[in-house]
Amino acid sequence: MTIGWHFDNTYSKLPNVFLSEISPIPVKSPNLVILNDNLSKELELNFSTSNKEDLSKLFSGNLLPRDSKAIAQAYAGHQFGHFTMLGDGRATLMGEHLTKDNRRFDIQFKGSGKTPFSRNGDGRAALGPMLREYIISEAMHALRIPTTRSLAVVKTGENVLRETPLPGAILTRVASSHLRVGTFQYITARKDEENLKTLVNYTIDRHYPDIKDSKNKALDLLKKLMERQIKLVINWMRVGFIHGVMNTDNMAVSGETIDYGPCAFMDAYDPQTVFSSIDQLGRYAYFNQPSITKWNLARFAECLIPLIDENKDKAIKTATETINRFEKIYEIKWLNMMRDKLGLFGEDSKDQVLILDLLTWMHQNKTDYTNTFCFLMNEKIENDEIYNNEDFHIWRQRWLDRLKLNNNTPEKYFKLMRSVNPSIIPRNHKVEEVLEAANNNNLKPMKNLLNILEKPYENQNKIFEYQSPAPISNEKYQTFCGT
Ligand code: AMP
Ligand code: MG
Repeated sequence: MTIGWHFDNTYSKLPNVFLSEISPIPVKSPNLVILNDNLSKELELNFSTSNKEDLSKLFSGNLLPRDSKAIAQAYAGHQFGHFTMLGDGRATLMGEHLTKDNRRFDIQFKGSGKTPFSRNGDGRAALGPMLREYIISEAMHALRIPTTRSLAVVKTGENVLRETPLPGAILTRVASSHLRVGTFQYITARKDEENLKTLVNYTIDRHYPDIKDSKNKALDLLKKLMERQIKLVINWMRVGFIHGVMNTDNMAVSGETIDYGPCAFMDAYDPQTVFSSIDQLGRYAYFNQPSITKWNLARFAECLIPLIDENKDKAIKTATETINRFEKIYEIKWLNMMRDKLGLFGEDSKDQVLILDLLTWMHQNKTDYTNTFCFLMNEKIENDEIYNNEDFHIWRQRWLDRLKLNNNTPEKYFKLMRSVNPSIIPRNHKVEEVLEAANNNNLKPMKNLLNILEKPYENQNKIFEYQSPAPISNEKYQTFCGT
């Protein structure tokens, strides 16, 4: 029985400017750490007849699957607002795998060695950050948030030098594509209108086939991406996810969450929450995520100007009007998302105030974002004495009164609330704990955590320790880019 790879590599057939042909650089002694059985099934891949040695070779790039074609993709990006030419500096795209019903997935190795885009980097990745991406991306998928996935992690048997030597690893990332806003910026920076058209057509074929025959493809692509990115960021806001490094090279045109570097989930509700050690000004703080999404979309729009209208002024005007609709659309969708979190059907003029008053109370009282909604769903949580508070009681009564509108019933509102409020998120201290064990060759805690994270909307038994925020400590939780 074969694994079932079916490669069809369309990106690699694009003109040379888009990519560089490379080979993953073989590693010393690859050793498979984890393989994602659920995802393998979804991809119609069968690894059950391959032994561990072969799988280790496969997922390290030491043994290349037939019909794969290794390339590094070119892209640029605004990193913390500054424009740079980038490209895959430590990733190899092995090709696009097609399932029987023609779903197309990029198979990419992250940490697979130097490429022509590596600049001063070593092209490698450390085990901790690759396992961290595995955990968080799979958790996001279970939370029903569009995301790249993680198929496998291998240790390379080589050390990578960061502040200290760390065990090296390669992650196999699966994505509906790795096209980024930065891909467009790369082509635009080269003032290459022909290839810009090629990229627009390629993107539309791959992700937005419904606008294939549209009269103004560039403008419609902008509108479509805006729609998907608004949906995405609202999903992040819903579960308290902070991406941490929303550079334009880390915004996928598919609308998937991509690039799990310094990301983390918020515990106590605070709109200014930032975890990333390098985000000193809070550019990518929880509450800035929507406005940064809009900022990134404006950079995307700039790339498309020459194709939106022959008359540049007219093109700029049209693009600006489109982008400026962002706030209105976002506000409406955010409000509806928050209504869902509170089990509210229909619209009431006082909804926004009701929602904002709860958030303000949570902020003032430093209550846990996830668990507050669990408490409102009558789930048992630890430390619920915080809700025995007069201001909260008054707010709760207003909420209960609002719940009576629109023929709502407890059955209906609890069902709605349960579908959008997770009981389980990857708590930062738990993620750290399992990564430490994994670094010491004990994968059991990580697999346990992954199992629990698979069912975030179910009321699971005996998982208090996974639901509680980290014990209060003097040290602020910090995340690092993991490069
Ligand atoms: P990221 O912070 O992962 O989004 O990466 C930003 C850019 O830096 C991308 O072009 C990466 O390919 C590149 N990069 C990150 N880490 C390394 C590394 N260790 N070696 C080479 N390039 C890297
Ligand atoms: Mg990146």
